[in-house]
Amino acid sequence: MDITKIRGQFPFLRESVNGHPLIYLDNAASSQKPDRVIRRMSRFLESEYANVHRGIHLLSERATTAYEDARAAFAGLLNAERPEEVIFTRGTTESVNLLANTWGRVNIGTGDTILLTEMEHHSNLLPWLHLAQETGARVDFVPVLENGAALDFEAARCLLAKRPKLFAFVHVPNTLGLENPVRALCGLARESGVTTFVDGAQSVGHQPVDVRDLDCDFLACSAHKMCGPSGIGGLWGRQELLSAMPPWQYGGEMVDRAYFNKPATFRDPPARFEAGTPPILEAAGWAEAIRFLTETGLEDIREHSVELANLAARQLRGIDGLKIFGPDVRQSGIVAFSISGVHAHDVAFFANERGLALRAGHHCAQPLMRKLGSPASSRASFSLYNTRQDVEALVGIVREAVAFFR
Ligand code: PMP
Repeated sequence: MDITKIRGQFPFLRESVNGHPLIYLDNAASSQKPDRVIRRMSRFLESEYANVHRGIHLLSERATTAYEDARAAFAGLLNAERPEEVIFTRGTTESVNLLANTWGRVNIGTGDTILLTEMEHHSNLLPWLHLAQETGARVDFVPVLENGAALDFEAARCLLAKRPKLFAFVHVPNTLGLENPVRALCGLARESGVTTFVDGAQSVGHQPVDVRDLDCDFLACSAHKMCGPSGIGGLWGRQELLSAMPPWQYGGEMVDRAYFNKPATFRDPPARFEAGTPPILEAAGWAEAIRFLTETGLEDIREHSVELANLAARQLRGIDGLKIFGPDVRQSGIVAFSISGVHAHDVAFFANERGLALRAGHHCAQPLMRKLGSPASSRASFSLYNTRQDVEALVGIVREAVAFFR
């Protein structure tokens, strides 16, 4: 990858803080946007914007074409069999809520089990806990090994053999710097007839993700974490599963026939799950982000971020009292750490003064961080525009922060 050329395409890199160049290591929360995504969105607003699917006029046709092209681009990114298998949502969180409220309401009942893992983000935890509470189902958790080094695969095997109705789990967690063996887990689930949902928020757009190869049943992700805009994401599902799901939100565009005095009938997916005016502008922007990432090369993007994360982890480990969560060798571009005697928020504040964007807190995984004995940690997460100089700056600033606060 030509990093200089890539960096030249990201306008945010012209920003500075207190005379320091801005270094952005908060990519796991949201990534920055390249020029071509920004330009695509402004061009769309200038000359293609109207509501989709409804008008027979020029702008509505242009908008509909862009919207459906985005569906094809997203389906292509996942190697889905057909574009109709992807539903546009507001993002991963809304995708999980959609799934829990549709597939979940039909398939989960009293006495059923939903299997999750201990490393889930709140967005793949709370909708299922809520569903379980409402239906009388139980929730089991595949444990994480010591220090969050990996998912306990043998425990997963045992729990899947008990035939839960659903196994919903994260591909790449947002704190531990690891990648779960999705294909192997889905294989075990399939042997036991368990439906699978994969939270792809930190994997799609960061590395190649092929839903047919992974052999999962559902997968969700968010555009804003992969150089696209916020306000849009998607849920992919096998067509036969989507077709059997009832609607969740009701309104325009999702209905086939509506009456005053008898029940409405609904359209086939994806329209059934896209009630109301969808995120049209955002779809156009996301499609451009997908083209940008695919042209850059998803395998190269993964390699680059993982290499930087490993470099950072090796050097940070040299700091007295600093503990990194997850495996010894990074499998994703994420490094979360705590430092004894120094609060994570102090580190992030200190870093910001020097132009370095870090995240501090529980990273929306409170039960996991509690289990790991560190309710708050600092997190550096790398993307395609980060460099080895960014790693040096990170390590230098963390060293300075430790000297200052201890
Ligand atoms: N899952 C994981 C692993 C995440 O990292 C995030 C975002 N931090 C989400 C789900 C939720 O994504 P969103 O806020 O875009 O809905």
